[in-house]
Amino acid sequence: MITYGKQQITDEDVEAVIRALRSDFLTCGPEVDAFEREFAEMVGAPHAVAVCNATAALHLAMAVAEIGPEDRVITSPNTFLASANCAAFVGAIPDFCDIDPVSYNLDPTALEEGWREDTKAVVAVAYAGQPANMPEISRISSERGAIVIEDACHGTGGGFHHDGKEWKLGGHPWADMTIFSFHPVKTMTTGEGGILVTDNAEYARRARLLRSHGMERDAERFQGLGSDDPVLAEKGRWMYEMQELGWNYRITDLQCALGRSQLRRLPELVERRREIVAKYNQGLAGLPWLTCPGLSGWLGEQGRALMSSHLYTVQVDFEALGRSRTEVMAELVEKGIGTQVLYIPVHLQPWYRARYGYGPGKCPIAEAYYGKALSIPLFPAMTDEEVDYVIGGIRGLWNA
Ligand SMILES: *Cc1c(COP(=O)(O)O)cnc(C)c1O
Repeated sequence: MITYGKQQITDEDVEAVIRALRSDFLTCGPEVDAFEREFAEMVGAPHAVAVCNATAALHLAMAVAEIGPEDRVITSPNTFLASANCAAFVGAIPDFCDIDPVSYNLDPTALEEGWREDTKAVVAVAYAGQPANMPEISRISSERGAIVIEDACHGTGGGFHHDGKEWKLGGHPWADMTIFSFHPVKTMTTGEGGILVTDNAEYARRARLLRSHGMERDAERFQGLGSDDPVLAEKGRWMYEMQELGWNYRITDLQCALGRSQLRRLPELVERRREIVAKYNQGLAGLPWLTCPGLSGWLGEQGRALMSSHLYTVQVDFEALGRSRTEVMAELVEKGIGTQVLYIPVHLQPWYRARYGYGPGKCPIAEAYYGKALSIPLFPAMTDEEVDYVIGGIRGLWNA
């Protein structure tokens, strides 16, 4: 069975985890610090805070930006639940503006039209790894006093060209914070894991604090209750202060050891994904009942070379095929080809309808896209033969 996504684990990865397992620290140790440093360096950002998953990182981003019950957070409907749920975690209203029909990313024009006075943050998702139009989204948001959080969970190692320069996701100036996921189907993995990247030292400091119960151990930063307070006046190295209400969102040294090992191989992992995408683009071109993923105009042709692709989602005219998507997916499973539907527009989920009154018609382009969406296998361990086999399987749907 060729699944739609899968991790690649080498002997070096396994050895790195075993070394960590035999070391003095299973958590809060040197592997965590080193992973953060190396990841920050890879994207070209000053600060990185690694956590137990990207959902936790998105929650921390909301918390450190002080998004709360009076606020609205706009994101793309074509994303994983977590990009919107993070707003609900802090009591804010998650809201959705439509996507553009080429990149399937948040459309800046729709964002401008759907903007509401209480919007305090935009979560811009790099769907499938293609960057959203960050310079435009950043302009619209900053003019209106909102921050931008880039959900780059699909795009680790990717970037774009703009203003005569190459930028990495997480390292460009058009997002206040960027989030990456290390779930096994993503570009690189730590089993479960995520990271928050920012150029804002205060955001990073608070994300670190909130990752571990809001607990401060640095005496320099103690708030204290005055020297006459019987409990908090002592300043020993054992001392800790809870300054805010946080969570346990820590990641382990085992995971970060795996992360560091995967990070060393990231350029190869990204390059292999690019090769497979190029093969798909060629092998699936020219079918009147199928549309390959497009490239947004603002990225230019360089965009393709800099992209780190997580998904390959085609638009299929199931009516023309005379079968439902579910039937087609079952036929492909028979041939050993796993597919996925990414994504059901988040605003159409039962909880979102019940809680916020959203429903069909709110984001018509995302809804039409969803009706035809099919994500086909894309992961670095795929062989060329497997890629050709998937192409043959998809093309063969017409005659089946
Ligand atoms: C995977 C994913 C997340 C959540 O990542 P976890 O590490 O599983 O919590 C968030 N946003 C997007 C777009 C994702 O694909």
